[in-house]
Amino acid sequence: MRNDPVPGLLARATKVLEAEFGRLPAFDAAPESAASTEEMARVLEATAHRLGDNYPNFHPLYAGQMLKPPHPVARAAYALAMTLNPNNHARDGGRASSEMEIEAVGEIARMFGWTETFLGHLTSSGTLANLEALWVAGQMAAGRRIVGSAQAHYTHQRISSVLKLDYTAVAADSRGRMSVKALETELRKGDVGTVVVTLGTTAIGAVDPLDLILDLRKRYGFRVHVDAAYGGYFRLISEDLDEPARRAYAAISEADSIVVDPHKHGLQPYGCGCVLFRDPAVGRFYKHDSPYTYFTSKQLHLGEISLECSRAGASAVALWATQQLLPLVPGGTFACGLARGRAAALELDRRLREDKNHRFVPLAAGPPELDIVVWRLNADTPERASELAQEVFVACAAEDLHLALVQLPESWFRTSAGTDGDASGHVTCLRSVLMKPEHEDWLDRIWVTLTAACAHVKEG
Ligand SMILES: *Cc1c(COP(=O)(O)O)cnc(C)c1O
Repeated sequence: MRNDPVPGLLARATKVLEAEFGRLPAFDAAPESAASTEEMARVLEATAHRLGDNYPNFHPLYAGQMLKPPHPVARAAYALAMTLNPNNHARDGGRASSEMEIEAVGEIARMFGWTETFLGHLTSSGTLANLEALWVAGQMAAGRRIVGSAQAHYTHQRISSVLKLDYTAVAADSRGRMSVKALETELRKGDVGTVVVTLGTTAIGAVDPLDLILDLRKRYGFRVHVDAAYGGYFRLISEDLDEPARRAYAAISEADSIVVDPHKHGLQPYGCGCVLFRDPAVGRFYKHDSPYTYFTSKQLHLGEISLECSRAGASAVALWATQQLLPLVPGGTFACGLARGRAAALELDRRLREDKNHRFVPLAAGPPELDIVVWRLNADTPERASELAQEVFVACAAEDLHLALVQLPESWFRTSAGTDGDASGHVTCLRSVLMKPEHEDWLDRIWVTLTAACAHVKEG
C-alpha cells in the first residue's frame, strides 16, 4: 500500500469524465442519497478497521493462495467507471464499456492465436466461464461424457452435475498432469464428448499435455476445452517453460474453447473471468430474445452471447485500461512480471532441494512448471509430515509469512516406487503461489522466515 498512486490518478481522470457530461444541468442529490462528508468519513474509517482483519494479500510476504493485487490503473479505471456503473448486458446499460469489453477480449484471444473468427466475452468468474464452455460442449455432444483429470478444478464435476452431464475424472501422473494413458482408456469406451485440459492446475500449476491430447482427438474425435483460468497468461512466456509445457501452450489455438481469469494473473479486481470459443457459430446456443433490452442498437449486445444477464461494465473498463498500459505481448512489462514470479518459484524450489538439513521433500518429478511450489516436510510417516506442515504454516504466519496448505498424493514425493506407504495415501504439504513480481526480490526474506519457522517448530 506504500505510495498508493490511485487517489491522484482518479482525481485527474474524474475531471475529464465530468467534462464529458458537462452540458447537463447541475442538480442536487436527493436528501435520501446525500450524507455529510463527515458522516461518510466516519463510516469509511470503521470500514477500514474491519478490513484490517484480513491477510495482507497485497504484500510480497503473502505467498500462499492465488491472490494478486489489481494493478493501480485497474483500480483507478474501475473506480472511475463507478461514476456511471455501466452494465454490459446491453448497450443501453454500457455503450462505451461494451466496446471496451469487445476490444479487451479481442486482445486476450489474440494472445492465444485467435484473431478473426472467435466468440468471447467476460464473465463474473472462471467458474461461470467454465460453465458456459461446458454448457456449449454439452449441446454440441449431447449424451456424451465430460472427462477431466483428477487434478482438474473441483468445479468441473459440480458444473457437469448442474448441467446434467456425466463427468469422469481420469488419473493424473506424479507431475500432476493428466495421464494420456488413462485418458485413452476412457476414450476407447466411445462415449466421451469433451475433454477438459488444464493448463496450470490450481494445486501445483501442472500443465496437461494438450499437444498429445490433440493427437488423440484426431483418432477418437472429441471436443477440447482448455481450462487456463490460472495459467492462460503463461502463453506469453511459454518459450521459457520446460519442453512439455512449451509444447502444450504452443497447441492452445487448436482448442475448441478456452477459459482464462483476468482476476487471477491478469491484475484485475475480482469479478473478471473470460470464455472464448474458436467457432463463433456456437453463438446460436445463446440465442434468445428479451422483451426489455436490445432496442438501442442493431449491433451485438453482449447479453446476447452470455449466460449471465447483468455484468459489471467496470470490469471491462479496468481490463481495457490495464491492457492499454501493459499490452499482452511476449517480452512486454506484463510478461516480465510473470517471468519474475516464476523465477522466484524456481529459486525457492532449488533451495528446498539443496537444503543441507534435509528438512524438505520437493516433488520427485522435478521443479514447478509455472510459479507454484509445493513441498512435503521430511518426517518418518506421512501423518507426522502432515502435522509438521500445519505447525510450520502457523509458525510462518506468526512471522507474517503466509503460505498455504495442500493435500497431495504421498507417492508424488517418493523417488523410488514401491517403498513404504500405499499408493493412494495423501499427505498435507506446504504450498506457495509466487505470482507477484515482487516475490523475486523477497525470496531471501521468505526463505529465512521459512527456515527459522522450521527450527522453531522442531524445538517447540
Ligand atoms: C481458479 C480456477 C478456476 C475457478 O475460477 P474462479 O474464478 O475462482 O471461479 C477454475 N479452474 C482453474 C484451473 C482455476 O485455477
